[in-house]
Amino acid sequence: MNRPNRKINARQRRVMRLAAVGFGIFFGLCLMLYATWKTIHPLWLAHREPVTQRQTFRPAMATSWRKMDWREALHAEPAFLAPALPWFDPRLPPVNEPKDFPYQRGAVGNSWFKYSAMDPGSLLPSTRFKWKRGLSITGSDSEPMIGWHGTLHSHTGWSDGAATPAEAFAFARDIGGLDFFAVTDHPESWFFNPGRNWETLQKNAESAGGANFVALAGFEYSSPIFGHYIVIGSDGVCSAVKCADLNDFYEWLLRPENKHALVAFAHPLVQRDNAGRFEFRKMQYLPALQKQMFGMEVIHWSGHDQFMFGFSGKKPFIDEALAMGWLPGPLGSQDNHGPNWGLANSRIGILTKALDRESLMEALRSRRFYATSSRDLELSFEIRMPGQPWVQMGGTIATPKPRLDSKHQTSKDTQLETRLRLFEPDEYNAPRRIEWILDGQIVGRLDFENLPHELSSRALEENYYSGEILGSLPESMLNDGQQHYIYVRMFMANDFATYAQSSPIIFTP
Ligand SMILES: [Zn+2]
Ligand SMILES: [Zn+2]
Repeated sequence: MNRPNRKINARQRRVMRLAAVGFGIFFGLCLMLYATWKTIHPLWLAHREPVTQRQTFRPAMATSWRKMDWREALHAEPAFLAPALPWFDPRLPPVNEPKDFPYQRGAVGNSWFKYSAMDPGSLLPSTRFKWKRGLSITGSDSEPMIGWHGTLHSHTGWSDGAATPAEAFAFARDIGGLDFFAVTDHPESWFFNPGRNWETLQKNAESAGGANFVALAGFEYSSPIFGHYIVIGSDGVCSAVKCADLNDFYEWLLRPENKHALVAFAHPLVQRDNAGRFEFRKMQYLPALQKQMFGMEVIHWSGHDQFMFGFSGKKPFIDEALAMGWLPGPLGSQDNHGPNWGLANSRIGILTKALDRESLMEALRSRRFYATSSRDLELSFEIRMPGQPWVQMGGTIATPKPRLDSKHQTSKDTQLETRLRLFEPDEYNAPRRIEWILDGQIVGRLDFENLPHELSSRALEENYYSGEILGSLPESMLNDGQQHYIYVRMFMANDFATYAQSSPIIFTP
């Protein structure tokens, strides 16, 4: 009676054993597939470039320059340029212009703005005017400053770029002609290559720096979910594998050893797949990180128009960040993946008296910088209360309490003075339109209709644009007990394609 049962049991055992082995193999395969997906997919996503709806990244180009001699590839940049965006015509009213534009449209010589051309030579310490960037009209009278140019976002063969960081630093300095420069590779690509590490990158930066060039080590935190961030001045790196969650990354930035690190939002909307639902975690504000979060890209590669409409589609990303409580200045980033460091137009200009690592970091921390796609532009934007000293971009002005006294309400509104100084030696980049932005809305506009006659001057047989634009702002726009900010942006060249944007000046109650 027991035999048949035993037979059945033996068969059952065999079946069970086969099932167990089969399940084990299946489970193992699943695990391997999952692990491969978890490793490859974020790396693949991290390697992709920001793709907006109208901008497509063609990986074929990325591979083609790798095959080229890196000197030859200097001419490869146009392949990376974003195609013109037909939906954005800067000659039309901007999307974020208030419907019933309540403010005065500027025109040269009207009551709001007064323009006067200046000879930049008259403000220089040296009497002889030299045709060279770095000798400029920018900065306050008492504290003349120079607009130094550089980019803080670039790649090398240590991630998805070309050549080595040492070569990149030397190139940016000697051929790119930059005053300061940071290599910011994706550290997610460093895992299987012990030669790529933070210490070596720092050593390369130190030995590349000199009297007229500041080299910085940095990295690009590249999360496939939470977006990309540029980090400079940190103590080591935290990749998106190690700091998988944004909490981990923010907490890492707040560690005492990283208190001098600066971090910036890179190319918003890189995660177009989740349409900004997770990117920067909807820019959720973390007060402890406000000082370190020094910037956001408003010019990337050669484009700025894709950042004019933020997650809401109503105002630029940077204004959305400012509305959240962050205080980012605007960054122009080359973000190059070819051997052409410094050859693109996207830059930031910092305003300092001298150029060294400390001055650069101080200017960035103080948001005393502007983004520009002009290779020469120097820009200064200041505001002052009557009788007070000028406050440069990035600075803060305390507005007096609103006057509730009925006697004062009828009195004349106090006017704050604004002053914009610019120096643009490139004849092609004629300023065409300047806009003053208050809390994300345009409150002033100056169109230059008949350039170059209004703005240009002549020096050394060449046209250049240099001068200052004075304006006034009614204090009642700012002293309602709320915090406000104002910045300026400028469109240049006949096609309005060259762009510049200042850091905001903050008004606190
Ligand atoms: Zn990126
Ligand atoms: Zn990048």
